[in-house]
Amino acid sequence: MTRPQSRARRQSAFMEEAKRMYDQMEDWYDTHPQASFGEIEAEARKRRRELMGKVLAELVNGRDAGTQVELPKCKQCGQKMKFEGYRDWSIHGLEGDSTLERAYYICPNCKGETIFPPRRKAKPAGRSLE
Ligand SMILES: [Zn+2]
Repeated sequence: MTRPQSRARRQSAFMEEAKRMYDQMEDWYDTHPQASFGEIEAEARKRRRELMGKVLAELVNGRDAGTQVELPKCKQCGQKMKFEGYRDWSIHGLEGDSTLERAYYICPNCKGETIFPPRRKAKPAGRSLE
């Protein structure tokens, strides 16, 4: 799982994933030396989905997991909510499957009253994920 981290760290995580994918392709080609270009492509496509899923999770989780500097207030009673941890959120995207994570808060007063704060509004020229 990824927690918010610097752009340089996110980029380095991406480079690691890309290297891993390339190495896997090299290993696969070693064991399939007669593979046609189409077969190599089919193998790459599978791995690309895995890579993209991880990269998108890195990109999104590494920026913002919904953690609030100030504790959010309960909609029911107005009391400050308690940070409980992170919950996974699986997304089956067009480019790959990603596991995003969201900060999770619970009201100590009203049991069961929980919130997942929405993502920050996108920066100019960006767009919201939700
Ligand atoms: Zn409450």
